Amino acid sequence: MKIIAIDIGGTKIASALVTLAEGVPSIEYQENIPTEAKAGGAHVLERVIAAAKRVQALAPDAEGIGVSTAGVVDPRNGDIVYANEIMPGWCGTHLGAELADACGLRVGVLNDVHAHALGEARHGAGRNAASCLCVAVGTGMSGAFVDHGFILLGAHGVAGHIGHVGCTLAAGLPCTCGATGHVETVAAGPAIAAEYIRLGGDSEDGAEINRRALAGDEAAIAAQARAGLALGEVLGSMANTFDPEAIILSGSVANCGHHWSDALRTAYAALAMKPVAETPILSGELGGDAPLIGAAEHFKAPAYRELLA
Ligand SMILES: [Zn+2]
Repeated sequence: MKIIAIDIGGTKIASALVTLAEGVPSIEYQENIPTEAKAGGAHVLERVIAAAKRVQALAPDAEGIGVSTAGVVDPRNGDIVYANEIMPGWCGTHLGAELADACGLRVGVLNDVHAHALGEARHGAGRNAASCLCVAVGTGMSGAFVDHGFILLGAHGVAGHIGHVGCTLAAGLPCTCGATGHVETVAAGPAIAAEYIRLGGDSEDGAEINRRALAGDEAAIAAQARAGLALGEVLGSMANTFDPEAIILSGSVANCGHHWSDALRTAYAALAMKPVAETPILSGELGGDAPLIGAAEHFKAPAYRELLA
């Protein structure tokens, strides 16, 4: 099955043709263009439609369009029901309907974190697990719980915002979402950089901080360990709640070295109940392909039970 896949992020729009058959999906004709998000939702929509049409011209036999996008999506109609300040004017976009009209194809839309998780769950690190908790930690932190190929959507489409759950190290800290005490304020990349600076470091680059930690820089080690402890605490709590067969970590922070991952495992072990103590914590395998594959998969077989007739 050939599907046009689009991944809309705050900085770039990726488009490609994804072929789903037996085994590993193939990706052709991939093009990345700047989102130009600051120019507003209508402008971004124009760029998305143009990108989809360029793939369609190369693959006129494509059966439909799968879209992964920043923001909270109503997967029933492909509307964007919430988007933060990174995508001004994106909220309220009738993304699914506009794309379907413009290209004359059926369209499936889902949130980009959900798309990433679906890709990993069906074709990546979770392909042999009946259920998995996928967590992406980079500039922000989010995730999705996938059970037998279906993503938990929640009553408001908000389920999986694992960056916005409480953790002891974050107590009292203001979060980007407007609430306080959320793990993202300690575990995400900017938090590691801020803590490193606070401890006397002089770089805000995550990869550089990681190199310094591995070379024995005490401040870098402490900043990474604090983030690892916070994430491990939350993963332990989530394992107790959802009991996934596997936990899959992706995003730039997941590339941190052993000072981070050792702290993560220590905190996880402290929180996890005995039956989930050995739940495997894996690295994502698909990288940047995951949301494109997940978007195509969502078109082929809906990611949400709510969409089943
Ligand atoms: Zn928050």
